[in-house]
Amino acid sequence: MHPPGADTVLVRHGDLNTKSTTVKRYMLRILVENLEAALEDRSVSGAVDRRWHRPLITTDEADVEAAVEAAASTFGVVSASAAVTLEPDREAIYDVLAETARRHYTGGSFAVDARRADKRLPYTSEDVAREGGTAIWEAVEDEFEPEVDLEDPDLTFGVEIREEEAFVYLDSVSGPGGLPLGSQEPMVALVSGGIDSPVAAYEIMKRGSPIVPVYVDLGEYGGIDHEARAMETVRILTQYAPNFDLRVYRIPGGETVAHLVEEMETGRMLSLRRFFYRVAEQIAERTGASAIVTGEAIGQKSSQTAQNLGVTSRVTDLPIHRPLLTRDKQDIVATAREIGTYADSTIDAGCNRVAPDRAETNARLERLLAVEPDGLLERATAAANDADLIEP
Ligand code: ATP
Ligand code: MG
Repeated sequence: MHPPGADTVLVRHGDLNTKSTTVKRYMLRILVENLEAALEDRSVSGAVDRRWHRPLITTDEADVEAAVEAAASTFGVVSASAAVTLEPDREAIYDVLAETARRHYTGGSFAVDARRADKRLPYTSEDVAREGGTAIWEAVEDEFEPEVDLEDPDLTFGVEIREEEAFVYLDSVSGPGGLPLGSQEPMVALVSGGIDSPVAAYEIMKRGSPIVPVYVDLGEYGGIDHEARAMETVRILTQYAPNFDLRVYRIPGGETVAHLVEEMETGRMLSLRRFFYRVAEQIAERTGASAIVTGEAIGQKSSQTAQNLGVTSRVTDLPIHRPLLTRDKQDIVATAREIGTYADSTIDAGCNRVAPDRAETNARLERLLAVEPDGLLERATAAANDADLIEP
């Protein structure tokens, strides 16, 4: 829903505001580039401008809602609104408010939320809210019984007044927040196509780090669906990162899993984790990534007990980031649905078939190394060298 004639998108960000001027300028430049890419990816016309430390999209009315959606799926954006741009003239603003009310008000309560960036203007935000409210009232009172409710209105009319222009808008669409993608160093994300790993990758991207996806092909223990699912979830993540390379490193791991299953009983899941982390470390070295990301959460599986995470993590010096560490499964599922990765990650496949009858929950590194087949980590290096790079 937008005011008639809306051809502008107001883009609001949050965490950028905590930065120094120099850092903010740097991050804004990245945000503008990412917004341009999001518009282009969706074939939405529009030019992105940087004004008053905030991006502004200029488009036309036919594309304005699509431009809002594009902005609202860009990391770093807190919210976006479709707005009419006009002279910073009070009468002109009230005319637009009245026209907007005639078009969109259908009864119930309303409020005017007015902001004035230029404090030198000869009137206050309260003046604009009050007089604008009157204009709206008069526009609709013949047809409805309007009611003003500043606490919890059914419809909010937004007004923002700057020195050289003013904006009128209706609702704000929430964005993901976070920081612009590319404003932090890349990280290797271990993706399996399960429910957790795409959410973990998303959370890291949201804080500005592009991901280098790594998928380990488990051969007969994974299956073709397993890979298709992993690729599909990464493809969905590319929608949030149209100007980034999210090609997947596919690692041949089938022989290693079969070998582990044959040679080890208790603890083989943990050795497999060590293999994964070592592979990820190799790819990180090759791509300049600064850390490893996984979808693990404390106690979600026996391989993810606090003790086991501690033991398996020691195979690499790189930090292993686990953005879902403290989250409940239900909550992870809710995020997966929200970001669109859920539907493709619910078929049961993969790792479950590697798990032994009696799972290790309280591993000791020395004990694990005593039963782990020799050469496992060399296998990881070789597998990383044999990786295929594929378009998701
Ligand atoms: P999910 O991948 O959603 O966590 P899951 O819970 O079935 O599915 P786990 O066995 O718990 O997977 O694996 C924990 C983490 O290890 C995953 O979140 C992912 O980061 C990584 N991982 C698991 N299997 C693979 C794989 N085949 N390739 C790459 N990474 C994997
Ligand atoms: Mg999991």
